[in-house]
Amino acid sequence: MKPPICEICGRDFRASISEGGLVHFKLTEANIQYNKCFEQSGFSGHPAGAYWFCKKHYKKAKNYQGLTFAEASEKIQEKQKNKKIGTKPPIRTNFHRN
Ligand SMILES: [Zn+2]
Repeated sequence: MKPPICEICGRDFRASISEGGLVHFKLTEANIQYNKCFEQSGFSGHPAGAYWFCKKHYKKAKNYQGLTFAEASEKIQEKQKNKKIGTKPPIRTNFHRN
């Protein structure tokens, strides 16, 4: 397993691990192949699709656990950015408009 370091802000919360948590995202085909290694004995490591988040980002991450990590992290960071900017409108992109 990886140490508990937030995937979004890089916060290391080893000292207070209960503050955050591990989120399992939707697996890509590559992730599924990778995780098959865990079914074999003697293989240890961090499973694909599982990521740590600090308490600030854990809830947000949970909301997007139906997405792959790549999709979810984009959304989590997008929200964070918008919040920080505050007065500026969100950055618009030409793709994926709902
Ligand atoms: Zn964080």
